[in-house]
Amino acid sequence: MSIFSFNDNINIDDKNMDDNNNAKLLEYYLECKNHYNAIERNLDVIMYHYYCLKEKDYGAYVANVKEDSFIQWNVFKEHKKDVLNNKKICNAKINELCHHVYDTDTIDIDPDKSCTIVFCTICGNTK
Ligand SMILES: [Zn+2]
Repeated sequence: MSIFSFNDNINIDDKNMDDNNNAKLLEYYLECKNHYNAIERNLDVIMYHYYCLKEKDYGAYVANVKEDSFIQWNVFKEHKKDVLNNKKICNAKINELCHHVYDTDTIDIDPDKSCTIVFCTICGNTK
């Protein structure tokens, strides 16, 4: 069962939907994606610290810390699964809703190297 509830039941194939609704839905899913990215980054930090605690061995009399850390690590692992699933839903909806407008940009990797990326100026999707 999912810990987070996420509404992905919006029917974007509705023929009565106008461009304004389309744009609002796209905005909604882009904002959701940004929040899920931030949640994922923070969960990674929290999971790292619980992982460190659960891997520490200070002997039997601090075993509770280790066990509690293991339980919490698993709880956050489940949270992360839900977040990744919700991000996948957001990306699928964004791809359906966005009329991609691609542009190219050159990014410096180091002083001698650069690479060219192709990205959508609306949703940030890369090719
Ligand atoms: Zn796009």
